[in-house]
Amino acid sequence: MKRTKIKDILLSEQTDYAVNVKGWVRSFRNNQFIALNDGSGIGNLQVVIGLDTDETLIKRITNGASISVDGMVIPSLGKGQKVEIKADSITILGDCDPEQFPLQLKNRPSLEYLREIAHLRFRTNTFGAIFRVRHTLSYAVHKFFNDRGFVYLHTPIISASDAEGAGELFRVSTLPFDNPPRNEDGSINYKEDFFGRATNLTVSGQLEAELGAMAFSEVYTFGPTFRAENSNTARHLAEFWMIEPEVAFNDIYDNMDLAEDFIRYIIAYAMEHNREDLDFLANRLAEEEKQKPQAERSELGLIEKLEFVLNNKFERITYTDAVNILIDSPANKKKKFQYEIKWGIDLQSEHERYLVEKHFKKPVIVTGYPKEIKAFYMRQNDDGKTVAAMDILAPGIGEIVGGSQREERLDKLTQRMSEMHIPAEEMYWYLDTRRFGGVPHAGFGLGFERIVQFVTGMTNIRDVIPFPRTPKNAEF
Ligand code: ATP
Ligand code: MN
Repeated sequence: MKRTKIKDILLSEQTDYAVNVKGWVRSFRNNQFIALNDGSGIGNLQVVIGLDTDETLIKRITNGASISVDGMVIPSLGKGQKVEIKADSITILGDCDPEQFPLQLKNRPSLEYLREIAHLRFRTNTFGAIFRVRHTLSYAVHKFFNDRGFVYLHTPIISASDAEGAGELFRVSTLPFDNPPRNEDGSINYKEDFFGRATNLTVSGQLEAELGAMAFSEVYTFGPTFRAENSNTARHLAEFWMIEPEVAFNDIYDNMDLAEDFIRYIIAYAMEHNREDLDFLANRLAEEEKQKPQAERSELGLIEKLEFVLNNKFERITYTDAVNILIDSPANKKKKFQYEIKWGIDLQSEHERYLVEKHFKKPVIVTGYPKEIKAFYMRQNDDGKTVAAMDILAPGIGEIVGGSQREERLDKLTQRMSEMHIPAEEMYWYLDTRRFGGVPHAGFGLGFERIVQFVTGMTNIRDVIPFPRTPKNAEF
């Protein structure tokens, strides 16, 4: 018989039909009741086995074992579920030694512990919910852009440019580490490397996406990005996924509207399609909050927070206003900030969080940053001091989006590049977009894991990506 998914059986609530289900045993009570899960949803299916079931078979029905069940779907007498399966036959697909299986623990295993056990993580309720939500969000990303006529552009993973000029690059090379070919001055001769030049893993697909936007008008990328930043924070990964739309003819205001619409759309999509998972995660978070001192607890639960974002426009302020708010803030007067706040600095995480969590209590879009702290491609404002940048800051996370209107004026762009010591010759292919029918355009980058964090309420970014890569950690 063909396998039926557990989620479909639980959803339909129909009874009196024969099915086959397959999955992993979550618990086995009284030698009679199996809670079975196949990952299709958070709900387990109760399988009731006959009292005459063979002893040796019963011994093999252990937590974590995989089984196949043929039986009838019947109304359930127990509470907690409307339907259950009366098993006619059970086959063990994979044994699971109860002595060695670590998920016997009655106390809930910690997130840190689960991070160390690759196979186990996905089988827990928490991570099952997180990664189903992550899946839905990524589907919603494509649906949002597809429905609006954007072209999904696959930008390269191996790249010769450092878009941000941040210098946190992973080198890609086939040269021998122990004895690389050298130039006369002793530096490594990358002309002999695989690509005939120095290459690295991409930190952003933006520059390439800009070329696409100059032909398709609306493009987006959604791919892995790599940054060798040695920061062990709860919101940085060395390998993360980024969504980068780039739109011809858009200015900074269109860009803000697009980002807001986009974020609301994917959140609403997850609320509609993963409600059970989100309710589970909301309860998990509520329990976690109870452990915290009163003052640190968030006022809104997870679902309320998401609904709040759906129903309220983001606050929009300039960098200059943001700095003034921070300077005048009670937190600053009480010297609560570790980093000094004054015009010209890059806002630190503590400043960003004060703005969104204490002052505005909602997501905030900050525009008009000083040009010194932003990338060369951002459009210069008429004041000569600021650029048309926009960062979106979210409660609990900080920056989730960084974007800008791009500098479309060739002379201003090359002038800024030379000020920032970015070699224009190497970037000829990028500058060509400004030479041959360039147009005003704008785009942004949204860190996918940061939005998954926001939607699932997980505080550590390592818990929202299946196989996290962080400093000193790439075991599996
Ligand atoms: P941050 O200040 O948080 O390091 P950034 O200014 O370096 O961010 P951008 O270069 O603007 O970030 O990248 C665009 C988006 O990518 C960010 O808004 C964020 O959501 C995400 N992002 C950046 N770095 C990381 C990282 N190391 N891990 C996960 N997401 C990241
Ligand atoms: Mn960064």
